[in-house]
Formats: sequence, C-alpha cells, structure tokens
Amino acid sequence: MAVSTETSLREGYEFTQGSGYTLPEYPFLEPTEIRNGEVSHHPIVIVGGGLAGLTMACALAHYGVPAVLLDEDNTVGVKGASSRGICYTQKSLEIFDRLGLYDRIAAKGIQWSVGRTFAGSDEVYSFDLSQQSAYNLSSQPPFINIQQFYIEGFLVERIQELGHVQLRWCSRVSAFEQNNECATLTVRTPAGDYQIRADHVIDATGAHSPFRGWVGASVTSKKGDDRWCIADVRFSRHPPVERHTWIEAPFNDNRAVWQHLMGDNVWRIDYQMGLHADPDYVSREDVVRERLARQFGDDCEIDIVWVGPYTYRSECIDQMRHGRVFFVGDAAKVVSPFGARGGNTGVSDADNLAWKLAAVMKGQAAPALLDSYHEERHEAARQNVLVTNRTARFLRPADGMERVFRDAALGLARQYAFARQFVNTGRMAIANPYTRSSACDSGGGQSVQNVSFLWPDGSKGTLNELLDWAGSRLLLLLFGNATPRCYERLRALGETAPVRSVHVLGADEPAEALEHVRDPKGHLQGACHVFGHAWALIRPDSYIAASGEGVDTTLVRAVAKAIAAEGEGV
Ligand SMILES: Cc1cc2nc3c(=O)[nH]c(=O)nc-3n(C[C@H](O)[C@H](O)[C@H](O)COP(=O)(O)OP(=O)(O)OC[C@H]3O[C@@H](n4cnc5c(N)ncnc54)[C@H](O)[C@@H]3O)c2cc1C
Repeated sequence: MAVSTETSLREGYEFTQGSGYTLPEYPFLEPTEIRNGEVSHHPIVIVGGGLAGLTMACALAHYGVPAVLLDEDNTVGVKGASSRGICYTQKSLEIFDRLGLYDRIAAKGIQWSVGRTFAGSDEVYSFDLSQQSAYNLSSQPPFINIQQFYIEGFLVERIQELGHVQLRWCSRVSAFEQNNECATLTVRTPAGDYQIRADHVIDATGAHSPFRGWVGASVTSKKGDDRWCIADVRFSRHPPVERHTWIEAPFNDNRAVWQHLMGDNVWRIDYQMGLHADPDYVSREDVVRERLARQFGDDCEIDIVWVGPYTYRSECIDQMRHGRVFFVGDAAKVVSPFGARGGNTGVSDADNLAWKLAAVMKGQAAPALLDSYHEERHEAARQNVLVTNRTARFLRPADGMERVFRDAALGLARQYAFARQFVNTGRMAIANPYTRSSACDSGGGQSVQNVSFLWPDGSKGTLNELLDWAGSRLLLLLFGNATPRCYERLRALGETAPVRSVHVLGADEPAEALEHVRDPKGHLQGACHVFGHAWALIRPDSYIAASGEGVDTTLVRAVAKAIAAEGEGV
C-alpha cells in the first residue's frame, strides 16, 4: 500500500486528492540572522508548528503579542502521519471561534452528535450529545470532525492574516540552553545554522520533544502494546453520519473498530490489530482491502485515501514549566486517541498560556501568573491520562480479572440499561476544571460556554465577542440590580486593574450608565454558574476566575488573584 506523503504547493484548502492527501508546502525564507550574522532576541519563541504550537502562535497574534515560531518541517501534519486527529470538541471550537477560524472549520468539517457502540451485532450504548444540556447552549456544536491538517492549515492562514508572529519553516531546533538572562536556541536550516535568544520558549515539539532531555524533565510514562491501523476511505455507498464503535467487531476477529466521517467525504475506519501484528503487513493495500470488504461487503466500491498503522503510549511530564520553557500539547502529555483528548487538550494548553503571557508582557499581570499554567494544565493532563488509560484497558483488557470484568460489563449492558455506563469506548474530551489553581478564587475554575445574549440594540451577541472586547483583560459580568455605589466601585476598579465590566440586565431592567447587555433567557448567567444578584469574573480563556455577590473586597481579592498581583495595588 502506498501511503501518501507526497507534498506540493497548492492553493486553497482541498487537501484530499483522489487517493491521497496532498498537504501544502510553505516556503523557507532565509532568516536575517544568517544574512547578517546576528543573534536576535525575542520575547517568545515557539518550537513546533503542530496543532498546539500553531494555536499558541495564533492566540498570541490575536492578543497582538510578537513571537517567532520554528518548525523543522515545511508543511502541516507530521511527515508520514498526515492523518491523525479528527474529532474536535466544543471547547476547542469555541477557542477557534475566538481566534477567528471557526467558520472555516465549520464549512469544511462534519457536525455529529450521535454515537453508537456495539458488541458483536448488539447495540450496548448510544448517546445524542445535542440532547444533553451540557452542550446545547453554546454557539458551537458538541463536536466537529475534520482532518487535523485542515485545522493546522487554517491556523497558518489566520496567523498570516493577524501578523505579529513570524512563521519560520524548515527550522529545526538542535540545541538549547537557558540562564538568568535568556534562553538560547540553535536552529538548523537549509541555509545553515544560527542562534536565536528568547525570554520565554514554548515547547510544542510533540511526543518526541527534545526539550525534555535538554531541561532534565522527568516524565511518568506507560508504554501500551495495543496496535491499530487506520484506513481513511471514500465509499460509493456510505454509512450514517454517526460515530459507530465496535468493541467486538465480528468482521475484525472480535477486536475493536471505529467508524467516523471527516471532511471531503472521507471516512476514518480504525481497526484494532492483534497484539503482535506486523505494521507493514496490516497496512498492505490487499490486506486493507480485504478487511474493508469484510466490513462493508465485496460490492461496496472503496477508494483508499490513506493508511496508517500506529501504537500509542501514555506519558505525562511532571512539571509543565522548566525555567523559561513551557511544555504544551503532546510535548507535555501523550494519551491514547480514545476520547479525542490529545489534540483538544493541546489547544487548551495553548489557550491557557497565551493570555497569561500576553497579560504579563503588557504589564497587566505579574510574572507569577505564569506559574498557574502548570497548576491548571498539569491537573488537566493528569486527568486526561487517567481517563484515556481506563478506556485503553477496556478496549484491550489484560487476560485475567480485567477481561472477566470487561466481558461481564458487556454481558450486562446487552440486557440492562443501568450497565451501559460501564461500557467505556472513550470518554469524550471536556473542558477540564481547575480545582487547585492559585489564580482562581471562590467559584472559579470552570469553563464558560460561548452562549448568546442581546446587545442593547436587540441584536444577538456571544460571550466570545465580549471576551474579544476585553482583550487580554478580565471580563466582569455583573448580574441583577446594581446601585450607583456599585457602579462607582466598578469604575474605580477598572482604573487600577485590567478589568472590563458589563452589567447584564434581565428582561425588564432599565439600562444604567455602565456597558450593558441583556440576558432575557438567563443563558449567560447560567453559563457562569451564578444565581440572582451576583458577579462572575471571566478570564480571556473563558474560564471563571471567581464569582461572588457583593461588589466589595471579595471582588478586589479575586481580581488580584487572577492576575497574581498584590491585593492592595489592584
Ligand atoms: C490515530 C490518532 C488519532 C487521533 N485523534 C485525535 C482526535 O480525534 N482528536 C484529538 O484532539 N487528538 C487526536 N489525536 C492526537 C493528536 O493528533 C495529537 O495530540 C496532536 O497532534 C498533538 O499536537 P502537538 O502540536 O502537540 O504535536 P505535533 O502535532 O506532533 O506537532 C509537533 C510539531 O513540532 C515539530 N518539531 C518537532 N521537533 C522539532 C524541532 N526539534 N524543531 C522544530 N520543530 C520541531 C514537528 O515538525 C511538528 O510540526 C490522535 C492521534 C492519533 C495518532
């Protein structure tokens, strides 16, 4: 089977070319450092232009913060593994909306909400996310399926539109050191080597991060023995637009199978292989076709777009920050693909760190705020490793008690609804809560959905628009009646701290002088998890920093915590 890794420069976004993906190529431009023999100094250097690094670059560009991104490759996707992530969660889609590329993703991707799980021919679990209140208030759908390289391509396009960030392709970081003054990176390019200095370095080099060794990072890891083989295909007669999962597929020797639709009418069919399967053999075209025919029948015409065998492991770095280096995405943690927690949480890593760096660089927050990146995203990483490891063990149980439990769970689920909760083919990625962050106060640590409200002229607005207006500052939403004294305090707070305040009025409340919007259905208030007369302090990453009732010292303390400042100075 010829796995398509061929690349060429292409206009537009149609990367699926008949049988194969043809990814775009970006030009290598000789950097001024080589031409002038200088060592330049930058506030932020991002190493790695995958999903996490490009999201980081786009978010910094969105806040108007300059940065340089270095990638060893000259294309999106990872060479030889063009097709990886497919499933993007509501939280990621909300972030992409804030960054200005959601519409492109929605136009190319596939929306889905129904999932069904089978054991043999029995349906043992199903869900419809659009019916779940946790999902249906956002302006973005529960999920969109799209090939990861499309999102990366849109990110490149958006970064170029926004400016501020230099994208340097064919630039491999080959050495690194840091001291009290700065970090120094050696960059290998087709035109020769050069050095670049930085105040902050973002390691987004993925699962094989060289920075872990350079900074002496310790990693907690577990190697898996599960083997899979992807077939991205097009059909003459295609199945329903639902996620179908088989735990024991009769057409795959009773092993697991996944079936999803992605962009360009391409289906991802992912087959679990035997423990000692040879990757070269299972990805041979005749073997892949034979497998597909067993599932879809000999009469179904199938066009194979891409084939990729893979194994996975689980890993979590013990510290997400080492001096000037911040680890994001797979460089920080690696999880099995079940539940779509890899790429999606890398997007959230970037979103979390970007606003903090922006706020610190603009003098809106103290440098200590950057320490909360580890507290928050390490909690998320550990949680995601835990959840995905459980799924991996359900899908590939060890002989003995694990298999006995798995078989018992399936047997019960076939007969009783209560047992369906034990069927674990992947707990879909969520916006992880932060329960022990030094930057969150009482009521804080929850993500807020991108719900809608009404602007004063009656037109519809979204929380993301308010966050955009607030920029890298905190957004304070004040619900219910407010006294003139209350307004006075908010104005005074706005003069000393990076906070923009909005009074959220109920259906009939008169507008006062403060910026205001209307929330007739209470969606904004519900999304902030507060009731009655209350306030919610929202961070630029759409997480609640704190919530409370009186516009008093509690609020001032919460603002101080959220920007890691001394309370008095706020
Ligand atoms: C089969 C499969 C299915 C998956 N499905 C999903 C899914 O549905 N949803 C989801 O969210 N996730 C999914 N994932 C996980 C997702 O693909 C990864 O989590 C994601 O790609 C990680 O992004 P990253 O930017 O951290 O790293 P990568 O995408 O690996 O990017 C790293 C980048 O760093 C560059 N680089 C490396 N070393 C250097 C260096 N020394 N100098 C300069 N540049 C360097 C590389 O060229 C690359 O561009 C899946 C993974 C697999 C394997």
